[in-house]
Parts: sequence; C-alpha cells; structure tokens
Amino acid sequence: MSSYTVINPATAERVTDIELASEAETDALIERASRSFPAWRDVAPGERARLLRRFATVVDDHLDELAELEVLNSGHTLGNARWEAGNVRDVLNYYSATPERLFGRQIPVPGGVDLTFHEPLGVVGVIVPWNFPMPIAGWGFAPALAAGNTVVLKPAELTPLTALRLAELAIEAGIPEGVLTVIPGAGPVVGKRFITHPLVRKVCFTGSTAVGKSIMAGCADQVKRCTLELGGKSANVIFADADLEKAAASAPYAVFDNAGQDCCARSRILVQDSVYEQFLALLEPAVKNLRVLSPQDPASEMGPLISARQQLRVQGFLDGVEIAYTGSHPDGAGFWMPPTVVLAESTRQRIWQEEIFGPVVAVLPFSDEAEAIELANDTVYGLSGSIFTSDLGRGLRVSRAIQAGNLSVNSHSSVRYWTPFGGFKQSGLGRELGPDAPYAFTEEKNVFIADQ
Ligand code: NAD
Repeated sequence: MSSYTVINPATAERVTDIELASEAETDALIERASRSFPAWRDVAPGERARLLRRFATVVDDHLDELAELEVLNSGHTLGNARWEAGNVRDVLNYYSATPERLFGRQIPVPGGVDLTFHEPLGVVGVIVPWNFPMPIAGWGFAPALAAGNTVVLKPAELTPLTALRLAELAIEAGIPEGVLTVIPGAGPVVGKRFITHPLVRKVCFTGSTAVGKSIMAGCADQVKRCTLELGGKSANVIFADADLEKAAASAPYAVFDNAGQDCCARSRILVQDSVYEQFLALLEPAVKNLRVLSPQDPASEMGPLISARQQLRVQGFLDGVEIAYTGSHPDGAGFWMPPTVVLAESTRQRIWQEEIFGPVVAVLPFSDEAEAIELANDTVYGLSGSIFTSDLGRGLRVSRAIQAGNLSVNSHSSVRYWTPFGGFKQSGLGRELGPDAPYAFTEEKNVFIADQ
C-alpha cells in the first residue's frame, strides 16, 4: 500500500489520499534530520526560544484552519478541535522558555570544579495515535525541539492531516528544514524504522499497550531511550458524602468526551452502595441530554468514532452486558454510537477490565473506602482517575492509594501542560509535559576540571 484514503468519520466520505512513506524514504528523512541536528543544537538559546515563540504565533494565526482540518479528519467536535490547536500553541509557548533555562549544576567536589550539562540526544522519533493527533504531537515535539533535538514524527495512518500542516507552519515560522519532519506512513514501516534506525536516539510513543510493549522490546536492542504513554481504564470514584449532582453532571464528560476515545476516559464508575440508585437516577438525564451532534455544529459535545472498524470493536463489548440506558446520536452515515451506561456484574467482565476506547461506561457499587481503593486498583492500567467526596482528608488518602499517574479530586482534570502526565503500571513509562519534560530529551553530562 503506497497511499491511504483519509475518511471523514462523521459522514464516511473520502477526504483525500495521503502518500505513505517507504522504508527507504523514511531512512532518507531520518538522515536529513540527523544532518540538521548540529546546526539546530548550536542555535543560540535566545534565538531558539524566539523561533519556538514564532512557531506558536503562526499556529495561533491558523487556529481555525487547523481546527477545521481536525473536525474533517478525526470527527472531533469544533470546540474540542479549537482547544487542541490552542494546546499546540500553548505547549510551544511554554517550552519556548526552556532553551534559556536548561540549567546544569555546579557540584562541590575536592580538587577542582564539577559541572553538569543537559545535552540534546540528536534525532527524536515521535509516534502519535489517532485519538488526539495535534496535542500528542505537540507534547512530543515542543520539549524535544526546545532541548535542541531534531524530530521525526509519524502521525497515525487514520489522522495525518493536522501533523502535516503543523510541519508546514514550522517552516513558515522560520524553523529550518529538517528540524521537524512529519513522515506519514504505516506503523510497521515508518514507526518500526524509528525503533531500528541507529540515528534515532529516542522514541516517544503514544498508543496501545500492545504496540508499546513491542516498542520497548525493540528499543532494548540499541539501549534506545523510550517514553511510553499507553492505555487506561480509569476509575471515577463517588463517595456517599460527595456533591452527587455535581458528580453526576460531570461524569458523562469524563468518559464520553472525544466519544470515549481518550486514554484518560473514566470508563469505570464506582459508586458507594448507599447512594448507588440515587446516582444512577441523576446520571440518566445527564447522559440523555449530552449533545451528540455533527462535529461541525458548535453545540456538539460528542462526535462519531474514528472508523467503521473502531465502531464494530466497541459494539462488540456490548454483547451480553446489561445496558442501563443510552443517549442519542444522529442518523445517517458516519461511525456513530450513543453514549452508553452499562451495569457491571463482576470485575472479571471484559467491560470492566479492558480498555474500550468508545462511549461506554460501566458502573459498579462499593461498600467502603478500602473496597473502593481495591476495586480502583484492580486493573493492569494506572493512568488517571477521579475521586468525588466532601471530605478532603479522604480525597487525599484515596488519591495517594490509587495506583495511577494523574488523579483529581472533585473534578476530572488530567492533562494540563504545566504538570507531569503519564501512567503507572501498564499505562506507560516516563512522563510528558510539566517543567521537567525537556530533561527527558537530553543526556546529563558531568565534567570535572582539575584546579591544578
Ligand atoms: P496503536 O498502538 O495501534 O498505534 C499508535 C501509533 O503507533 C500509530 O501511529 C501506529 O501507526 C504506530 N504503530 C503501530 N504499530 C507499530 C509498530 N510495530 N512500530 C512502530 N509504530 C507502530 O494505537 P492507536 O489505536 O492509534 O491509539 C489508541 C491507543 O492509544 C489506546 O490504547 C489509547 O489508550 C492509547 N493512548 C494513550 C495515551 C496516553 O497518553 N497514555 C494517549 C492517547 C492514546
């Protein structure tokens, strides 16, 4: 296959065809990125900062265009897509402060002076999934470029359009040729080459846990650095003392945003048994009133699934499970599914254990705090989660006890570019975003200078 037909998920219509890079083309672009590295590394810190800020401004100037492209390619709601393009701008601005602040240390030692340096790695390979094409690309390339690396980036086969446009905007902003290269292609061709090509010094992978494991194993061969952001099965834990109206009103957005195709989706709701029926009654109108509309409609809160294949996969999870109630969805072509609430009967069910990556949430009662923690942790994943309670002490205790990288109390915030993001257990390895992210794209070098 040398080209891929991009489909609009809301209408099932063809958008365009994109050429897929071959292995030889990938090698040539990796080699160009490697040749571009020394000059980019040596750009004066203030100048590199200025170029990144200019890139952010150019992204902002094209925010509407990028958002519309994402609506067309990914079926994201217009509101989400605008936020996503804005996130790329904000992340570039945030890491534009890095080049001038990539401090080393002076460490007291006898006999001389000891200094540390954070040196860029060289070429960094960023592999992006289809669920959030723009933000996930930016979380990789912005800190990597800021730290002085050049980047080759592979978008998902299904969703290459915004990444390709971002690479053009980088050039428009004055970032030199070969510094940020987007290579559309198949995972087992282009993505795999990032793992096996010796000039790629780090792989920053976001995607499924299954592929992530193969990336980690492949990187071992060259002791290649890798960061993995993988799947999730996050819990939304609601205690009897919580503001139940608030918990029920926000729960649908915590799982059905992006049609549930979100690694942080709170796809397991745990409710204390004394308020279980009351919570389910409050949740029903919140789910039924969710505005599942054409993603182009500014009022839309949920769009379609990404593909016919994903729609079939998600529907497969509903075989033999008890559906409590569903929301609505538009008629006609496109890969639509209604937001769906199912009642879990056992923690061994697929619906409770596996990442569905669609608009389906399972609800289960618990008796006390200890059982809530045990159930929340009964998963191979550990990405995020929420705790609703009016007892701040309990909020803190339960947050500390849940084995996940990103918890929020009385809210569902998880990915904020100012704070570290990543998973415990099989949800990943390493952290992205936050103040320390650029260091993950450097080697720390120690230099001792004898004083005589
Ligand atoms: P995927 O693993 O199938 O693909 C992810 C990317 O890897 C794609 O670009 C794909 O082409 C590439 N790829 C596939 N096979 C490869 C190989 N052998 N070598 C190198 N690259 C390869 O995942 P997906 O279906 O695109 O995305 C959905 C998954 O991503 C979900 O499991 C979701 O939870 C996860 N995800 C995690 C996060 C996070 O931050 N933790 C964020 C978003 C998505």
